[in-house]
Amino acid sequence: MNTIEKFNEHVMATYGRYPLVMESGSDECAVDEDGKKYIDFGSGIGTNSLGYCNDDWVNAVCDQVKTLQHTSNYYYTKVQADFASKLAEATGMDKIFFGNSGAEANECAIKIARKYSFDKYGKGRHNIITLVNSFHGRTLTTLSATGQDVFHNYFFPFTEGFIYVEANNIEDLKSKIDNTVCAIMFEYVQGEGGVLTLDKEFVDAIYEIAEKNDILTISDEVQTGVGRTGKFLAGDNYGKKADIITLAKGIAGGLPMGACLTGKKCSGVLTGGTHGSTFGGNPVCCAGGLAVLNKAADSDFLDEVVKKGEYFRKKLSEIDEVVSTSGIGLMIGITLKSKKAGDMAKAALEKGLLVLTAKDKLRLLPPLTVTYDEIDEGMKILAEILA
Ligand SMILES: *Cc1c(COP(=O)(O)O)cnc(C)c1O
Repeated sequence: MNTIEKFNEHVMATYGRYPLVMESGSDECAVDEDGKKYIDFGSGIGTNSLGYCNDDWVNAVCDQVKTLQHTSNYYYTKVQADFASKLAEATGMDKIFFGNSGAEANECAIKIARKYSFDKYGKGRHNIITLVNSFHGRTLTTLSATGQDVFHNYFFPFTEGFIYVEANNIEDLKSKIDNTVCAIMFEYVQGEGGVLTLDKEFVDAIYEIAEKNDILTISDEVQTGVGRTGKFLAGDNYGKKADIITLAKGIAGGLPMGACLTGKKCSGVLTGGTHGSTFGGNPVCCAGGLAVLNKAADSDFLDEVVKKGEYFRKKLSEIDEVVSTSGIGLMIGITLKSKKAGDMAKAALEKGLLVLTAKDKLRLLPPLTVTYDEIDEGMKILAEILA
């Protein structure tokens, strides 16, 4: 039995997987079982923010795993304290709850929004506005929050209390505000929904309406956060900071970690016993996170992300098959003229390049540390496939 057959015998078939058995990686290159190399412009869906096995990250994680791999949240650890301080400094937020994934970070955000409103106004003001085409996770509640009908199937009953508004439609947003709404939740750039960037006017409207009605803003920065857009937070591109911000994906360089951050307004909402997680804030994940922040919170590093994003876009604009690009920084959606994104991703893989798709677009989320040589090498393959 080969690896794929063995794998499929007992692992649930919940993913459409490519026939690639990944064995190792270094920097921007992944290596499969047969020793074939791939340039990775997907970085494990934006998780391996420093590429594969970055030296500083490996050292931090290995030192920690040899010292203390885990302890319960009934005790304190220095590494979680250090990581929280650095994350608060990078984001300008006040308090943080650590979980293990994006969905969990969003669950925490939803609980905070509802409790904030419950504490202040009592029952009935629990509705949360989310956007059509959004993606917020795979738990029952975050599936409800996700504004896509394809996800609202099979698993009934779903969590109640989500209202969907069309992205970039200010009139639709206004028409759905009433005294049952406690929060508006959104991605500045909808990742899974097709790398769709929110207009500045729409974001301004969200904040204005929220401010006027004591409605909380929740920005899901699970995909856009931690430097992905060339700012530490995507909201920095808009000059906005939500009351509640969620992070995951790239935050710990490929280790499972999610974080829900609050500004002063919501700092005291979750009190003793109202939330928890066994693994949340795990020391090894925090050590990995610190290694990421040591790079990604630096303004020179972020400026480079902007420049590399521009370089990618320039290269892409030279390809005839590329109609347009979307997104910000190193979060790149590619609209193709006539070729199918899924077919192109498969063709790329055969030629030694890993890319992602989002709806009918190709999507690139390269490591933030990608070099110009690697961009050139990968783009050469992409140009060949799209020719
Ligand atoms: C990936 C993603 C999630 C879900 O994260 P998980 O770690 O898979 O739970 C939530 N929101 C956004 C915007 C995402 O991109």
